[in-house]
Amino acid sequence: MKNFKTFQIALIIIPLIISCSNDDNNNAEALNSIELVQTDTDALLFMLEEEKLARDTYEFLDGQWGINQFANIKKSEQSHMNAIINLLELSNTPYTILPYGEFEDEALQNYYNQFVESGQISLSNALQIGATIEDLDIVDLEEYIDNTTNTSLISVFESLKCGSGNHLRSFVSTIESIGDTYTTQFLTEEAYNQIISGSNEKCNL
Ligand code: MN
Ligand code: MN
Repeated sequence: MKNFKTFQIALIIIPLIISCSNDDNNNAEALNSIELVQTDTDALLFMLEEEKLARDTYEFLDGQWGINQFANIKKSEQSHMNAIINLLELSNTPYTILPYGEFEDEALQNYYNQFVESGQISLSNALQIGATIEDLDIVDLEEYIDNTTNTSLISVFESLKCGSGNHLRSFVSTIESIGDTYTTQFLTEEAYNQIISGSNEKCNL
């Protein structure tokens, strides 16, 4: 009789435990998933390829010139891509990553082709390309940050922008150390000078 009671209690308790843990799983999924509007999805998909443009170009330039800067910054670009991929996966957004040197966006493909052609001519060109990529990246990130209210997106894009500021300072400092100068192509003079006069920042990624 005692055993039967224990059995009865177990019958009541076990489903409670199971349903509790199901609820926990559902809550965890709800907390970890994000919803995006179309402009946010477009922003993430475009920035994923722009970060890939940086990674693939530095991979190529690293192979050409073998300086630490390209090797180190290339790794940082992979972590930037991973942060975007994380948001795409949390929002169940399908995405594709083409092989190295291939891009869905025509403008990004043209940039890559141009960078490869010019970057193999001289180290001086290669460093200018590095600064150009970071210059472009910061301007695009700022535009996307201004055009969204999604805090997950803003937080990831701010981290990427922080990283780009470090990369820009790093490339410009090497450009100047070999006696060249970099002229801003996308950032305003004022914004560019502000970044260059700043110091290395600790970014979240
Ligand atoms: Mn980046
Ligand atoms: Mn960068």
